[in-house]
Amino acid sequence: MKKILQLTTLLIITSLTFIGCGTAKANESAETVKIAYLPITHSLAALEEADELAENDNVRVELVKYGSWPELLDALNSGQVDGASVLIELAMKSKAEGVGIKAVALGHKDGNVIVVSNDVKDGADLKGRTIAIPHRQSSHNILVNDALAKDGLAIDDINVIELAPTEMPSALAAGTIDGYCVAEPFGAMGVSIGAGKVLYTSEELWDDSVCCALVLTDDFIENHKETAKLFVDGYKTAGNNLDADTAKKVAQKYLNQKDDVLDISLKWISYDDLDITEEQYGELSEKVKDYGLSDNPPAYEEFVKNDF
Ligand code: ZN
Repeated sequence: MKKILQLTTLLIITSLTFIGCGTAKANESAETVKIAYLPITHSLAALEEADELAENDNVRVELVKYGSWPELLDALNSGQVDGASVLIELAMKSKAEGVGIKAVALGHKDGNVIVVSNDVKDGADLKGRTIAIPHRQSSHNILVNDALAKDGLAIDDINVIELAPTEMPSALAAGTIDGYCVAEPFGAMGVSIGAGKVLYTSEELWDDSVCCALVLTDDFIENHKETAKLFVDGYKTAGNNLDADTAKKVAQKYLNQKDDVLDISLKWISYDDLDITEEQYGELSEKVKDYGLSDNPPAYEEFVKNDF
């Protein structure tokens, strides 16, 4: 009896193995692009593209989720992934340090806010306050500088601290910080729990602002030219397809956030027309230099690739 059982088990395992092989074979013709991302609304275009290309015969997206920018940067800089949806300033810094990457599209348009505690009266009232940003190399740092400049203040008039995005809403609620600017939906989360209010949206501070970018490694672009083109085209199409309903569905699938947080957050952002123009990049580079993020941001021609 025992022998028959063992034989049956063996047969089942063998058939399962064959079924497994069959499934793998059907996908063989499509090339896969490995993309690193953080679960934030700023990376929704890449997430939407992965869904749209799930059955594509030529190119598919393998998403690799990270928990923080430093972890994602490590993976990108060491070539563990083919590309990433990443804060453009971090990518510019890697490029300046010799990492072979190109920015091939924007992550999103607008989509940032400065959230402050309810007792902050206005922009001038930021003086002496403690404001959190996720990383010195970020448009969040630039936006805080822009907000201060509006009222004749400078970064030395406040205390700036770097804090993990997920900790910002609770730090604001606890009064440890007076405000923050960070990738979404963490600003919306602070508003949703009543810890704070929106002082400025990004478009009030910086028209046509740049924040995240889709980057690809030079290695991938050079060795997989046709796939890189299909991937970037598919990414821009996915961005154009992200209307309010579609964006919410993708966010629900990948972000693990409450619906009301997403509803607040998705009102601030858009994903259409994700080309990086020379004018936008020029303005970004000026801000990066003016606010002391970097003295030598990479030139547009070296870093941005539009000609696929
Ligand atoms: Zn962003």
